Amino acid sequence: MVKMLIDGALVDTARHMDVIDPSDESVVAQVPDAGAAEVDQAVAAAKRAFPAWRDSTAQARGDALAAMARVIADNGDELAALLIQETGRPMALAQFEIAHLAQGYLNYYANLRIEPEILIEDDTRRVELHRKPLGVVAAVVPWNAPVFIACNKIAPALAAGNCIVVKTAPSTPLTTLRLGELIKDVVPAGVVNILSGGNEAGAHLVAHPDVAKVTFTGSTGTGRKIMEAASPTLKRVTLELGGNDAAIVLPDADVKAIAPAIFAFAFFNSGQVCAIIKRLYVHESLYDAMCAEIAAYASGSKLAGGRDPEAQFGPVQNKAQYDKVLDYLAGAKASGTIIAGGELPEGPGYFVPLTVVRDVAEGDVIVDEEPFGPILPIIRYSDVDDVIARANASPYALGGSIWSSDPEAAAKVALRLESGSVWVNQHCALDPAVPFPANKQSGFGVEGGIEGLYPYTALQTLNIAKAAAA
Ligand code: NAD
Repeated sequence: MVKMLIDGALVDTARHMDVIDPSDESVVAQVPDAGAAEVDQAVAAAKRAFPAWRDSTAQARGDALAAMARVIADNGDELAALLIQETGRPMALAQFEIAHLAQGYLNYYANLRIEPEILIEDDTRRVELHRKPLGVVAAVVPWNAPVFIACNKIAPALAAGNCIVVKTAPSTPLTTLRLGELIKDVVPAGVVNILSGGNEAGAHLVAHPDVAKVTFTGSTGTGRKIMEAASPTLKRVTLELGGNDAAIVLPDADVKAIAPAIFAFAFFNSGQVCAIIKRLYVHESLYDAMCAEIAAYASGSKLAGGRDPEAQFGPVQNKAQYDKVLDYLAGAKASGTIIAGGELPEGPGYFVPLTVVRDVAEGDVIVDEEPFGPILPIIRYSDVDDVIARANASPYALGGSIWSSDPEAAAKVALRLESGSVWVNQHCALDPAVPFPANKQSGFGVEGGIEGLYPYTALQTLNIAKAAAA
């Protein structure tokens, strides 16, 4: 049985949680179920480890992150196989998360350095700006990209000189716990602690008075609770929350050329990604053609569990989310015309076919809310000013994209979207060197790039009066 990493030791608990394979609903593993005592131990270990880690060199911290990335590379096949078990996703997607995203972000932050800045230097004084680590960071992770999101928090937190306690999502703890076992001796005891547990463990962790900062990725509803929990001790908070990204196809776009990419960016990971296309706005002159193209790609896709080598799309990751997606499916059927998918397959597993719904508009739940599953609404528009206003009317503002045969003109339109990331002729193009900001109720406190390091630090100015000239 995999164990938790606390204070450099592998720790079990009396209580355990089942890990379910969503492609057949079988129990694939049992993992520890952390309670308040284990959370307290992990925070205490991180607090003890902090002074030495803070005072270590940036080079030493970078070397540790690079070593973690090498551990992932050396054990990539095992980690990908575990990720398939707990998510049901196809092999290529599991390998992408492990080998590209998790490793890529660790290596990026391994090489990043924060240097003090000289703000003023004259005959009388020198003023410097420093960025200091905060202390113990609590990282709360969702289930849709569990290993990537854990590493995307561990990497900047450690690079900046903090210690971290990671709380994995209740339905996807397996691969991240195994990663914790593998890196046990790569970082000093207490610098990285990895827990499995339910929402209560998360709530206890984020409220802990010895936690200086909370970094959270998950739903907007939980984000609100975390802000409340952070307030008594004024913890720093980074929130990466929900999204309802609009993609807007301009009248000059080439439908056949862009349809494969739009399809891929709408159904990536069976729709379970925060910043993928969730509302596809198509100009009325291209509407029927685009609907037909996307429906054809969706209908021609192979939906199966990740152990099937032909699988292209996997199931919804857990039962609670599956039930939510079925509600959205019922809503889509009631409000629009289903042109692909829509009917559930026989047999076990949380499979929802890739579903495309047309003739829907704002006011329909499938347009106004994020299903976080494989259902794409396609919405007609006739005027560019109007569609920008409609795209911006959402309380979410994570990502957005403009599709056109003229990328430079499209870029000007893209800048009118209010989302943190805007793309032209692509969507959700993540890169560790590029900040991934969120706006409005999609969150705040950026991740990615050098800007993603700053929220793990506190500013300090140093003002030195020079001795008066003789
Ligand atoms: P969730 O909010 O239900 O759970 C996320 C994590 O929070 C889990 O580990 C859970 O145990 C923990 N948690 C729950 N209640 C808590 C509390 N009161 N205090 C502390 N921790 C608590 O989200 P989810 O269903 O796992 O993830 C899906 C959501 O995440 C979607 O809305 C999606 O858009 C969002 N998401 C956002 C990003 C991003 O970068 N913006 C990335 C991935 C997912």
